[in-house]
Amino acid sequence: MSLKYCQGPTCHQYATKDRLRGNKDNKTFQTRRRSSFYYGQGNFCSLNCQNDWFDNFGNKAIDHFGRLTEPKHLIEDNAWVKDYDWRSSPDNSHHYYYLNKITSERRPLTEDQYRDNNYDLNER
Ligand SMILES: [Zn+2]
Repeated sequence: MSLKYCQGPTCHQYATKDRLRGNKDNKTFQTRRRSSFYYGQGNFCSLNCQNDWFDNFGNKAIDHFGRLTEPKHLIEDNAWVKDYDWRSSPDNSHHYYYLNKITSERRPLTEDQYRDNNYDLNER
């Protein structure tokens, strides 16, 4: 079991008892270290630490991965969403389908197609 550190840039500044580590005469508040974290894809010990990271690095990250400079548009070509009827049919199967949010067109799906994340009618 490998341990990892919370990526919050000021995690160590939240002076909680569990962050106080070290020898008797040499205790310091330290960045939290755990086998897993719940926040930010397992990188942060708390929502505070996740927000601190974004406050510090969010602009750089957005610029790096591409800042939107104009609105995206939901159009027929990218408006497909997978869904299924919650009511079961007599044979106890669900009816899976693709629904176009613009045209309201429905196209039937097999269960395998429904579960396959690579099966996608949307154009990128
Ligand atoms: Zn933290």
